[in-house]
Amino acid sequence: SKDDLKSFLRKNAFVLFTIGAVVFGITLGFTLRTYKMSYREVKYFSFPGELLMRMLQMLVLPLLVSSLITGMAALDSRASGKMGMRAVIYYMTTTFIAVFIGIIMVLIIHPGKGSKEEFTKQQKIEQFKTQYGKRIVHVKVIVNDSIFNLTNTTQEIAQEEVIPLPGTTNGVNALGLVVFSMCFGLIIGNMKEQGQALRDFFDSLNEAIMRLVAIIMWYAPIGILFLIAGKIVEMDDITAMGGQLGMYTVTVIIGLMIHGIIILPTLYFVITRKNPFIFITGLLQALITALGTSSSSATLPITFKCLEENNRVDKRVTRFVLPVGATINMDGTALYEALAAIFIAQVNNMEMNFGQIITISITATAASIGAAGIPQAGLVTMVIVLTSVGLPTDDITLIIAVDWFLDRLRTTTNVLGDSIGAGIIEFLSKDELQNGDVELGSSVLEE
Ligand code: ASP
Repeated sequence: SKDDLKSFLRKNAFVLFTIGAVVFGITLGFTLRTYKMSYREVKYFSFPGELLMRMLQMLVLPLLVSSLITGMAALDSRASGKMGMRAVIYYMTTTFIAVFIGIIMVLIIHPGKGSKEEFTKQQKIEQFKTQYGKRIVHVKVIVNDSIFNLTNTTQEIAQEEVIPLPGTTNGVNALGLVVFSMCFGLIIGNMKEQGQALRDFFDSLNEAIMRLVAIIMWYAPIGILFLIAGKIVEMDDITAMGGQLGMYTVTVIIGLMIHGIIILPTLYFVITRKNPFIFITGLLQALITALGTSSSSATLPITFKCLEENNRVDKRVTRFVLPVGATINMDGTALYEALAAIFIAQVNNMEMNFGQIITISITATAASIGAAGIPQAGLVTMVIVLTSVGLPTDDITLIIAVDWFLDRLRTTTNVLGDSIGAGIIEFLSKDELQNGDVELGSSVLEE
């Protein structure tokens, strides 16, 4: 009836706006492409999208820090230990499954048939030099030299290695902040009354940030519209997608879809016995934001909102699991890195033996953990995977032309993996959560 329709529209206004924004953005983008805008015009045109990106990124640092600190402080060490274990097991398992799917897909479809010479000039992006091996696992990724140091390690490495990353935006060195905040949260959780002021401070900071997020969410559809339209106007000719590169793109898409539409939902269903697609519907806005921004950290504020408000996942779980997940759990990136490395081997007519494939799966996992949640970070950390099996790192240039597109899809998969993880971990941690000995806002240790 009319009233049903009205209440449906009201409840799903955000999601409908956002989906509409994507459709309209694509249409607008392709229409404007025919006008051959200048670089300057494209930049002006993309401004509303850039604005969204920046507003979200602005919130990442305080959100990540305040949610992790309060999350850790609210759990007693037994509960956080258990939850942490579950999170690690979930992250590792799903990342390995993703890598496995990537490898199987690229071996079956074999998109690299032919040779490197067949790549046209347009498909290759020249100018890429690199000499570093495993430097990315450098300590500076894990321990920041300053809590206010916002330089992103991926970004630094990209600059050092002169990797042309078109349109990449800065991000924070999240891994360093995650480690710092977890330690800090544990400490103030153990501080009894003396820690109360800090616990209250971060709790209230977190609440304030989430209110800012609620406002930004109204702007998000507009931002997403222009992010997508702007990218379509700006992108190189789509004919670059022909041949091997086209097959490679299709292979990545199929791999990501198997992981995101079949594996993760099945896992969610098997463990929680709840309908995964209802859960995913609650996440739509976060998934579309990931598609629009190609950054899982920029999406983090929206992921929080979707999980806590639409899916009613316990805050003690989201605060703990989401910031860590957005930083280290990247199923889509892992899948893509393994797949891309083997694709590069294929176009070089190199057969990877079993040992090399194992090496690729391990380094792809490491590379996905080391990649920051910013646009095209995965492309940079792929250097680790390639060097580990002696593939020419220069050949990253072969896949740069389509990376901006695949990046969006793998980011969406990353965000989906983190969110389903939060749902699963909440379910598995029912007991600890129900015991009520872990409550947000008040210390557990005030026995
Ligand atoms: N852009 C991805 C993310 O933010 C990382 C990647 O490049 O794979 O999750």
